[in-house]
Amino acid sequence: MNIVLLGAPGAGKGTQAAKLVEEFDIAHISTGDILRASVKAGTPLGLEAKSFMDKGELVPDSVVIGLVKERLQEKDTEKGFILDGFPRTSTQAVALSSELAALGRDIDAAVAVNVDFEVIVGRLTSRRLCKDCGYIGSKADTSCPQCTGEMYQRDDDNETTVRNRLEVYEQSTAPLIEYYRGCNLLIEVDGDRPVDEVFLDIKRKICK
Ligand code: AMP
Repeated sequence: MNIVLLGAPGAGKGTQAAKLVEEFDIAHISTGDILRASVKAGTPLGLEAKSFMDKGELVPDSVVIGLVKERLQEKDTEKGFILDGFPRTSTQAVALSSELAALGRDIDAAVAVNVDFEVIVGRLTSRRLCKDCGYIGSKADTSCPQCTGEMYQRDDDNETTVRNRLEVYEQSTAPLIEYYRGCNLLIEVDGDRPVDEVFLDIKRKICK
């Protein structure tokens, strides 16, 4: 099963990706996670990416496409994968299609998780993550409910940057919904519901 997860930042892609990975035993490819790891490691790529990420802008296509192409060469992706946060531009979508064609693979579904932008602003500005296990929680979690680890706020989850990320999404990424509809791959779900309800809806529509 090869899945592309679409949806604005804060729509719940990361949470749903984690559940889909477990359900279908597939590889999780999150370009945001890969980029944050490079920033943390202080690699040249991380240094280049950081200035874009801090402002809520997209990292240049050439950089992100290169990362994903490399990741798709890894063995664990052969059993299937979920792309979380990629593609985000039509250039990335076209590059993905041609890379997959070259590898003799296909996308089975493009899942768009839809959530109202004002709901997202509230969600992201109160989002907190666990430093140890990556658990996604909220301000109310003073420590991680899963592993008691320390919770932190992402640098780009402040309101100004969140609003910029949503604007960038609207301009560059939202058009991909029509692109995947045209490819007959689009599945849409209402993401403004409890996590398990959204997940069951995605699963039901994917397995149809
Ligand atoms: P995310 O964790 O998916 O919200 O991504 C965090 C940030 O990483 C984004 O705001 C972008 O700056 C950058 N990023 C992640 N994925 C991509 C992508 N496919 N194309 C360009 N920039 C990306």
